[in-house]
Amino acid sequence: MHNNIQCQVLNCHFNSEGICEADGIEVKPQGNVATSSLTTFCETFVPRDDDSDDAYLI
Ligand code: SF4
Repeated sequence: MHNNIQCQVLNCHFNSEGICEADGIEVKPQGNVATSSLTTFCETFVPRDDDSDDAYLI
């Protein structure tokens, strides 16, 4: 069952055509406090391991 999280981080393991399919996500501020959406990030992001570009691998 799909959640309703739209995400354009298409190289994430959990991303399926712009929809996040993770069971849940954790979003954190960059630093102590977020001042806009630009200063938040998804902690749940995992690079897609079937990507042929090794630059995405940890
Ligand atoms: S885990 Fe985070 S980065 Fe990955 S698809 Fe879901 S919302 Fe996007």
